[in-house]
Amino acid sequence: GYSAICDSCKRHVMYRSTLNLNEEYEYVKECAIEDLHGFLHADKQIRRESIVKFSFMIPIEEQRSEFSSITHNRVVIDKEGKIPKGEQAMMLMKREHASGIYGFLCSMDLACAGVSLANPDKKLPQYDRKIRAEAAIVALADLFSGHFGAAQARATPIIKTLELVCMASKKPIPNAIHGFYKDYAEETASIVKAAMNQGLVKQDEIKIVAVGRPASIFKAEHILIDEAKTVSEAVTRIVEASDQWL
Ligand SMILES: [Zn+2]
Repeated sequence: GYSAICDSCKRHVMYRSTLNLNEEYEYVKECAIEDLHGFLHADKQIRRESIVKFSFMIPIEEQRSEFSSITHNRVVIDKEGKIPKGEQAMMLMKREHASGIYGFLCSMDLACAGVSLANPDKKLPQYDRKIRAEAAIVALADLFSGHFGAAQARATPIIKTLELVCMASKKPIPNAIHGFYKDYAEETASIVKAAMNQGLVKQDEIKIVAVGRPASIFKAEHILIDEAKTVSEAVTRIVEASDQWL
């Protein structure tokens, strides 16, 4: 496997860097998570902004999510495996769970993977930059299949991705519109069309993959897109584009 991950990140402790280095680029070199996720080293006052940005995942416009409260029972056992008598042995607790259709948005500035933001002349070899960009994109497949959030041992999200628009662009383009809005696909298609008309990006410099309803919306705007049947297929196509362009 890829070994440029620091000891803290290997343990999934990644809110602050514990590496003790002298400049941003050294942290980027040492750890792929510090690179993608950004970091702050408080003692040294060295920081890097995250190049992967997530918005909140929230219930879509005009649709409230349903909540239900589920009662759990936590049970203590003694050394023989018996439930001891007394009030402490069992503990009732309530957990709230939400259900609905959720939208979200994520953007990744992968041209900056392995590149110092403080001094862009310093960058990692192409091999490292590609493997880090690929890992960042592939990680989305986990999100789309419900591998996120707390209490997964009893409440792994019940999830099906209904619609998806993925865009990989060789040149910087405006953000897509958040999935909260019911016309997010129409608005995103207009933004892409406008970016092309203004010459910000050419059709062969942008790869768009859609799952479900958005495909027909992009086609109506005469924007070339790939249609994918599944999210993993969409993610794979975006990885291919990133690999080709980085
Ligand atoms: Zn790290």
